[in-house]
Formats: sequence, C-alpha cells, structure tokens
Amino acid sequence: MEVQIKLTIRPGCEVILKAPNPREAVATLAAYQEALGTYVCGHCSAIVGSFESPPRYIHRKDTENHDYFSIECPSCEHRMDFGQHKVGDTLFAKRDKGWYDWREFSKRQGGEQGQSSSDHKRHPVGDEELAEFT
Ligand SMILES: [Zn+2]
Repeated sequence: MEVQIKLTIRPGCEVILKAPNPREAVATLAAYQEALGTYVCGHCSAIVGSFESPPRYIHRKDTENHDYFSIECPSCEHRMDFGQHKVGDTLFAKRDKGWYDWREFSKRQGGEQGQSSSDHKRHPVGDEELAEFT
C-alpha cells in the first residue's frame, strides 16, 4: 500500500511525498527534513528556515560538472554545505564543517568556482526550487 505524505516545511514550502511502506516513509521524510529543514546558524545563532527567515539555497557546478549544495543564513550570509550520499539522491548537512563566511573562503580560493543557478538573486521558495530535490 502506498501512502502519500504532505510535509510542510514552512508556509509556502510543502512537499508531497509517496512511500510504499513505513520504512520508506521515514527515510523519505528524514531526507527532505535534512535538506529543507530548519537550522540554527553557527555564526549568528539565527534560526535559518523559519517563515520569517527563509534560507537561501545555493547550487553550484564546477568545471568538471560536480554539484555543490549549500544553505545560506539570511541574517549574516554564512553558509553551511551539504554533502551528497554516494548512493541515492539524498543530501546531508556538513555539521562537522559548520557555517563559514563564503566571501572569505571565495577570496582564498581565488573566486567562487563554477556557475550558480541561484546566486545573486533572491526569490521565495517555490515549485521551481523544490523540483531540484524531487
Ligand atoms: Zn547567521
């Protein structure tokens, strides 16, 4: 029996998930909560991901077509990166690396690598962004 789950991340950000069994339901919920959930910024302690302060999601590709995913604090613009599991399409927050000032990191690296699909433009979370995670 397949179940359909409506996960409300925050008002205006809802994900409809389908799972064939409880095991997949928990695994799927966990994956979306990890990628789209609420975090506390490690630099300024702001709540990142609430309705009042929706996060900015960053997706970059380098010249070798590797993908990089991050979440950015709307208050101080520090970022936390997501790692990608080797199997499946799921992400995990790199809590061990923590939140960093990407502008300082970028200067050390000689400029931000790759192209960004979302840098330099702010827009509310909508179907377009959710589509990246489905
Ligand atoms: Zn912050």
